[in-house]
Amino acid sequence: SHQFHTIHMEIQRHRLVLITPPFQGHLTPMLHLATILHSKGFSITVAHAHFNSPDPSNHPNFSFLPLFYGLSDTHISSKNVVDITATLNTKCVSPIKEALIHQIEKANINHEKIACVIYDGLMYSIDSVARELKLPNIVLRTTSATNFLTYHAFVQRQSSGCRPLQDSMSLDLVPELEPLRFKDLPMFNSCDMQKQIAKTMEVRPSLGVICNTVNCLEEKSLYRLHQVYKVSFFPIGPLHMIAEEDSSSSSFVEEDYSCISWLKKQPKKSVLYVSLGSIASWEEKELTEVACGLANSKQKFLWVIRPGTIRDVSEWVESLCKDVRVAIAERGCIVKWAPQGEVLADEAVGGFWSHCGWNSTLESLCEGVPMMCQPYFGDQRVNARLLSHVWKVGLEWSNVMERNEIEVAVRRLMVNSEGKEMRQKALKLKNEIKIAVKDGSSYDALNRLVKTILSINL
Ligand code: UDP
Repeated sequence: SHQFHTIHMEIQRHRLVLITPPFQGHLTPMLHLATILHSKGFSITVAHAHFNSPDPSNHPNFSFLPLFYGLSDTHISSKNVVDITATLNTKCVSPIKEALIHQIEKANINHEKIACVIYDGLMYSIDSVARELKLPNIVLRTTSATNFLTYHAFVQRQSSGCRPLQDSMSLDLVPELEPLRFKDLPMFNSCDMQKQIAKTMEVRPSLGVICNTVNCLEEKSLYRLHQVYKVSFFPIGPLHMIAEEDSSSSSFVEEDYSCISWLKKQPKKSVLYVSLGSIASWEEKELTEVACGLANSKQKFLWVIRPGTIRDVSEWVESLCKDVRVAIAERGCIVKWAPQGEVLADEAVGGFWSHCGWNSTLESLCEGVPMMCQPYFGDQRVNARLLSHVWKVGLEWSNVMERNEIEVAVRRLMVNSEGKEMRQKALKLKNEIKIAVKDGSSYDALNRLVKTILSINL
């Protein structure tokens, strides 16, 4: 019987089902994780929403499973993240359960086994589905470990009746989260939001949590998380860097490559890349201040203005005063959506004015590009604080959308010695991250994860 068991194991293939929500900043890292685990020998199925879907032709080795999560793209454009998350977690349960039951049957027929379900941390309701179907499961967290720790602190304080964490004005340090200040924390002030956080923290994935982070960036937070959350943590990041064989794009918007040829004509480290990611945006009035501030800084800039942010970009440029129009023509390049990975890797780029989304943060760190931080919501202020006060590669400035403030901040990053120091630190961090990926902590965590999945399926 032992021999039979061994032979059986050899022919039995392990399939992983990865489940992702329809957001750019979540889908991209999940596909990178899928690529990485496929290279380790697992078969891959990616379950995703029926819109904002990945392009299957970019991943011929994966099976894709479009599901009706009960969300639509109009829902998404409401930008009400709390409401979207609540709806998603209510409505995705039965389609996902049905799909998983079907996947288990299909796997049996094909002499495969669903070795594990890996789902995005936003979709906490899958926890009970996986448990019910007795499937080993893992959560992927696509934000920083430090951000995750703020959730824990929030729930702790709520249950112990301590001073609540929501205080968007206070510069006081939060003792259990230093060097974060109260004002750096995600807003936990609506009742619905608090419910979501509590539910997120109740999840106990059987095999643990994969974090898209690197030990050298967040060692302290990872250690604390492990202590308080009591499951295994696998800091396997930056996922986009480890999945380097996957150069395909999972962008929802078409990338404009003309900016790369423009970059090739610019001197080294001379260009400021300006982008607020896929959700945050400036109003038209603020865009005008940005244009004037950039023009007056006399620096070169590559600027992403997403469709929908402004009625018509060329009309708007026409409405600007002559000096600014000349500056845009001579020193600027405006695109609707950039191939950000390639932009940040280009030698011409010397700084990144960013909303500090976690993916953008990791992408910039991996290329040694210092940042000008303008966080808006969610985890962005946490990331900005890490960038400016822990890693010291991010510029903290007033964030006042006024041309003089902008001009000064841009010059601090691109011209002043302050910026130079950050650039040096960023290069040092870039090397540390490279080592972690090549044969250090991220490499070890990945092997530990593979072993964990295989051993539970023996
Ligand atoms: N991105 C891009 N082109 C752009 C702007 C952004 O490809 O012009 C990508 C960027 O590389 C990152 C993602 O969009 O992977 C944004 O994720 P992030 O977590 O930074 O911010 P979010 O959009 O979730 O707020």
